[in-house]
Parts: sequence; structure tokens; C-alpha cells
Amino acid sequence: MKAAILNAGNKGDRNHLRIAEVPRPELKPGHVLLRVLACGVCRTDLHIAEGDLPPLCRDLIPGHQIVGEVVEGASVALPIGSRVGVSWTGGTDGDCFFCQHGMENLCDHPTFTGYSVNGGYAEYVLVREDFAHPLPHDLDAAHVAPLLCAGIIGFRSLRVAGVQPGERVGLFGFGSSATLAMPVLQSWGCEVYVVTRGEAHRATAARLGATWVGGEDAKAPVTLDRAVTFAPSGKVVVDALSSLRKGGVVAINAIHLDQMPAFDYDKLLWGERQIRSVANMTRADATDFLKIAHDLRIQPGVSAFTIDAANKALLAVKAETENGSAVIVF
Ligand SMILES: [Zn+2]
Ligand SMILES: [Zn+2]
Repeated sequence: MKAAILNAGNKGDRNHLRIAEVPRPELKPGHVLLRVLACGVCRTDLHIAEGDLPPLCRDLIPGHQIVGEVVEGASVALPIGSRVGVSWTGGTDGDCFFCQHGMENLCDHPTFTGYSVNGGYAEYVLVREDFAHPLPHDLDAAHVAPLLCAGIIGFRSLRVAGVQPGERVGLFGFGSSATLAMPVLQSWGCEVYVVTRGEAHRATAARLGATWVGGEDAKAPVTLDRAVTFAPSGKVVVDALSSLRKGGVVAINAIHLDQMPAFDYDKLLWGERQIRSVANMTRADATDFLKIAHDLRIQPGVSAFTIDAANKALLAVKAETENGSAVIVF
């Protein structure tokens, strides 16, 4: 099968991936083999490629926003030809403290799709059957792919921030994840305040009906109940914190942050304000978000790339040049 494989340890090289023919994975117990229809390209893939996240295996095939159809290992729940989605959390041990207490996103022995095991930048992928989420057939695969990480983790961020209906919510950074969180917030009757650097992103936020949109150093005209930061920058977290009311929460939707600058505790955190990170996702987050996305007919903008152009897709995510989510389609 054709796959895009990470070149180990070439930080700075523009071509992080090499396209190669590799053997198709062999079915293992408890797994299903999928023919990949589409795989979204996530900023985390870039962090893996650039070594911001330490390498876990050689000759890795990245990709964790996979839409595929079952071709081997079918069961009653997942018959041959059924369409499933696979996300970043590709498995857990099921018996650690966190799994036993409803926090499987924090599992001590997790499997991360496209990081600790091979992912979906390939024609076929082997995934755990209990982490394959059934998908409705009436949605186009390329448009579902970005929902599977950007969408689910954006949704989890709203949960971690504790967003209540009707609240004022700040979104700091406005890429794929924020774009997908927006319609959920609107369906909850929230006011959405967007702070983002890119002019194109500000235009998108305005078009999607943000209550207010501002540039990088602008401050929302109201105090915010909650904020979610999407930019991988500690400064943005402090900016978000400075807009919060007492008791408000900033949720950080970033697997990697450059650095947290020092900030004034008395002014910014006192008053029971909270900063929380958002780590991975549970299967419940996936199920709940995919249902909401289907009910609200959330359809992300997509830029499609072939597997041969996988490097171009990764660069597009880095440069934030695409107005939609980059997706590799087969
Ligand atoms: Zn566990
Ligand atoms: Zn991701």
C-alpha cells in the first residue's frame, strides 16, 4: 500500500514525509483493518514531524483524523463496508486509575493514533475496534475527517472550560478547532468573542457570526465567562486570562506550548480564576460531539490533497495558508 512515512530526526527539513510502498498491516485480535477514505492533517502532526513531541517509533505513518471503511475484522457492531472514524485516542489500557475513574483521556498507557502506532496517511490502517466510532453514511468522508480531532478536542475544550448556555466565551486563535467549536457555542446561545492574529481568520470568524472579532493585541469589550486558547503560545493564555471575570476558566487547547510568561497573580488569577489544559479526548467526547455535529450539520471547509502531496498538506497547516482544514483524500 502507499503511505507517507515520517523521516526521523530531520528538524528543519521541509519535506518531513516520504511517500513509499509498504506492506498492508495484518489483522490482529481486537482490531479492524480499514481502507482509508480520508485523513485530516492536524497541527499535532506538525509537532510530531518537527520533534516538539518526542519520537516514539521509527518509520511512523502519522495521521489521526481517519475516516475509513471496515475491510477486515468485521463484527456485528462494525460490519464489512461500514464507515468509521478514528481519532487521536486510539486505545487505553482500561485498568489504570484514570480509566477506572471516567478519565480515559488521561490513561497511563494510552495508544495515540499516528504517534505511538501508525495512523491514516496510508491506504490502509489497523485500529482498535473499540476505538473506531461508527459514522453516518450521509456525510462526505473528507468533510468528516476534521471533526475527528479538531472538532472533538475543540468540543472537549468547551467542556473543560465549563461553558454554560448563554455565556460570553472567548476563542483565542481561530483555526480549524475554533471554527468547529463556534456553531456548538451558537447552538447553546453563547456570545462568541474571537481574538486572532490572521486577517483571513478574523474574516472567517465574522462571517460565521462572532459577536465581536479583534486582532492579536485587541481586548474583548466585555469580561468573559470562559475562554479557550488555540494558539500554541503562552502569551495568548495570559491575554485570555486578563479578559476573564472572577471564577472564570481558561482552557488551553494545545498539546504543545512555547512557554508560559510570568504574570501577575493578584490581578489575573486571584478571584478563583482557573487555567486548565485539555489533554486528549474520551470516547464519550467523540460520541457526543459527532452527534451534535450531525444534528447541527456542521460541515468544515476542506482543502483536499492526495497522498503524494502529503508534504504540501503539512506545510499548509504550518503556514495557515488554507482557509479550510487540510485533508488527505484517497
Ligand atoms: Zn488507563
Ligand atoms: Zn489532532
